[in-house]
Amino acid sequence: MFEKILIANRGEIALRVVRAAREMGIGTVAVHSTADADAMHVRMADESVCIGPPASPQSYLSVPAIISACEITGAEAIHPGYGFLSENAQFVQIVEDHDLTFIGPSAEHIRVMGDKITAKDTMKELGVPCVPGSDGGVPDLAAAQRIGEEIGYPVIVKATAGGGGRGMKVAQTAKDMENAFGTARSEAKAAFGNDEVYIEKYLTTPRHIEIQVFGDGKGKAVHLGERDCSLQRRHQKVFEEAPGPAISAEERARIGKVCADAVAKINYIGAGTIEFLYEKGEFYFIEMNTRLQVEHPVTEGIFGVDLVREQIRVAAGLPMSFAQEDLQINGHAIEVRINAERLPDFAPSPGRITQYHAPGGLGVRMDSALYDGYSIPPYYDSLIGKLIVHGRDRVEALARLDRALGELIVDGVDTTVPLFHALLQEEDVHTGRYNIHWLEDWLDKQMPPG
Ligand code: ADP
Repeated sequence: MFEKILIANRGEIALRVVRAAREMGIGTVAVHSTADADAMHVRMADESVCIGPPASPQSYLSVPAIISACEITGAEAIHPGYGFLSENAQFVQIVEDHDLTFIGPSAEHIRVMGDKITAKDTMKELGVPCVPGSDGGVPDLAAAQRIGEEIGYPVIVKATAGGGGRGMKVAQTAKDMENAFGTARSEAKAAFGNDEVYIEKYLTTPRHIEIQVFGDGKGKAVHLGERDCSLQRRHQKVFEEAPGPAISAEERARIGKVCADAVAKINYIGAGTIEFLYEKGEFYFIEMNTRLQVEHPVTEGIFGVDLVREQIRVAAGLPMSFAQEDLQINGHAIEVRINAERLPDFAPSPGRITQYHAPGGLGVRMDSALYDGYSIPPYYDSLIGKLIVHGRDRVEALARLDRALGELIVDGVDTTVPLFHALLQEEDVHTGRYNIHWLEDWLDKQMPPG
């Protein structure tokens, strides 16, 4: 086992990794920008290294700075968290070239899954059901229009290099295609420096269902059921739960096995998430994330496992500590993402926290790097905390969420907490009857545009 690991991230996820490492008796090195000198992850780690100025390209994304921090401190492995360098195949290669261990999948798997077209081709070959669409990239408008006719409108034009919901445009009719194709391409070019796009059938009422997989890198893999992340704003998740209220035990076992078998076949190592749209009893693969997800705690909640601990174990060459038959679902878990944002427009709201109180009690987990007097810097993601609740069933989990949100105090900045109070008043949230468009439609009704 490693003696010391470096965490190439910040905020709640850096803290999450510090916690797992400490329980395993592993030393931790935090890295931070000058804007994060007083951050909680720096205080909680055993050692810390300042790696640059506030802007991420010069700090959290600076590969030379992070490798140097390992060399200075003697850290043997790097946990990337999510975001930043977590899905950067070139980074993984450089880490390995320096005889360090990347706590995550191989550069090759990250590369294959990072390109949505090769990801889809690979999954199709492995027997995973995919959304009908173009065979690979679409070179020009004429081809886009031909494919639109073939698969039938509506269709969605998506960036091959996509992520974070950017570079995606829906064409409802053949007439829309010209605009959708052009806009998706220019958005993709601007966001990812790559204007290649592909086309998929646009599913009108799907749920977002993702399967958590875990592999040992030696041909063994398991699945840890699904998470339903259908409540999204601008293709970004805000409320996640496990198990999915619309998924039966049979469906879970079937799609779970397809996913576990697929990653076992490619000798995948560590945690991964295979994302699907789910409509009328069918699963359609959209992408695979080769890292720990923001919403991993709901899976930990219902299975009683520590996914970060497991990531560290397999990266160190140890076997997985559970087999498929050990993984039994217990109860229901829900996570809400608390962002420092001002409603109704979700504008970033950085600033000083004048008072912070985390909720507690049975079945409540607050993953956050906040503390009294902390100043949220304006340079990074607006996620400031994740409130995760666990109950014996969904009804209990929702009641617990309501209770815990009531205890939470975050003063000094605006947060998305009022959104969750309001959502808990909605019958559809209690019955679990929603698809990926529900939240946007609901927001439009609350705050009519214009
Ligand atoms: P990103 O990597 O940018 O997050 P994804 O491919 O994961 O992109 O898609 C993000 C979200 O966009 C999905 O959760 C869903 O809400 C929507 N979406 C993507 N593909 C489709 C599709 N074929 N039909 C309908 N909605 C889609």
